[in-house]
Amino acid sequence: MIASGPHRRDELRAFLAATVGKHANQFDLDQRIPRSVIAQLAEAGILGAQVPRQFGGTEYDAFDFGHVCELVGYASGSVLSLLTVHSIVASTIVRWGSASQKERWLPPLASGASLSAFALSEADVGSDARNVGTRIRREGDTFVVNGTKKWISCGQIADLFLIVGNCDGRVIGLIVEADNPGLSIAPISDMLGFKAAMLAEITLDECVVAQDQLLGSVDFGYAQVVGSVLDHGRFSIAWGCVGLAQACIDASLNYTETRQTFGQYLKDHQLVQKMIADMVTNTQAARLLCEDAARKRAAGDHGGIMATTMAKYFAARNAETVAAEAVQLHGANGCSNDYPLARHYRDAKIMSIIEGSAQMQQILIAQHSYGR
Ligand SMILES: Cc1cc2nc3c(=O)[nH]c(=O)nc-3n(C[C@H](O)[C@H](O)[C@H](O)COP(=O)(O)OP(=O)(O)OC[C@H]3O[C@@H](n4cnc5c(N)ncnc54)[C@H](O)[C@@H]3O)c2cc1C
Repeated sequence: MIASGPHRRDELRAFLAATVGKHANQFDLDQRIPRSVIAQLAEAGILGAQVPRQFGGTEYDAFDFGHVCELVGYASGSVLSLLTVHSIVASTIVRWGSASQKERWLPPLASGASLSAFALSEADVGSDARNVGTRIRREGDTFVVNGTKKWISCGQIADLFLIVGNCDGRVIGLIVEADNPGLSIAPISDMLGFKAAMLAEITLDECVVAQDQLLGSVDFGYAQVVGSVLDHGRFSIAWGCVGLAQACIDASLNYTETRQTFGQYLKDHQLVQKMIADMVTNTQAARLLCEDAARKRAAGDHGGIMATTMAKYFAARNAETVAAEAVQLHGANGCSNDYPLARHYRDAKIMSIIEGSAQMQQILIAQHSYGR
């Protein structure tokens, strides 16, 4: 199922509404995305979005992938996080993997037979990614990994992890299978948002990994693996934020057309119209920044990285504001589980923390601007 063209987009929107959106509050209550739903996403080609056709993927271009993320973000932040981390690993293998690594891992990632997760954060390190505490030492023709990763989205269900650690003073990325005897998984529950994202803590204890599971090189691992991952993750989350904001707008339009106070529909109060006008205008601005990023990425323009950073920064901040306004417009209903707004509100807060927090984006944008 390709996202190109309005017709296909409508199909995809309807598919995601039926499989994900309709049940997303329940996913949050259960703190899991059912396997049957993940299988349907895989069947629709969504999990293979970043994998070339030769390996069984759907190979969406930047615009199609962005639109898919927008539609998934419209339906559920947790499912967007599944798509994001899975695509992060797949696209990093596409970009930096050897021919044999691609043959080995891309087909199962494309079909959804294997799910993947990205593990950088630790209890003491998040934004300051170069200072990861996980230690990797070389031993013969293997790497031996020791450390604990925290807040790993989909860590409870992933078959493959892209683990980031420090090897002789250099940050590198290794693919480690979940069934490696040196790796253990402890679920994390009751987060503020992304409640169905099945987060986990991953402990690596004398975990032996074959040398051919190194992604990219030892010398340039940080720029290659971490740089690639964050850039891709920001693009996905930026578009997902547009979807989340649009979901809040659509719900608010419906609600204010039917709810009356003081003898008038909410939509007829000018203060409400002001709120709607700002929500719609700022969300369109976020969408245009995402489209600018997609256009630059599609053209192979180096400016694509900064355009993506700005899109993520603006779209995440906008999602937070729009979700808060949507809860406000729904009054007590907005605070209940009968509507999706409380879920969007919680998820929107997470968007400004993950894949580079708002402050990290501000620093990058300012540094880039001074560097001219
Ligand atoms: C729901 C959820 C899912 C996640 N999934 C994953 C995952 O799949 N994989 C993974 O590796 N990680 C994941 N994370 C972790 C996430 O990437 C980190 O939380 C994020 O990078 C921020 O790191 P931190 O929490 O350690 O905050 P810190 O880095 O400690 O920062 C704390 C605060 O200080 C601010 N700050 C830091 N440095 C500066 C500075 N120089 N100037 C100004 N402000 C600054 C930050 O913006 C932040 O607001 C997830 C987190 C959440 C909440």
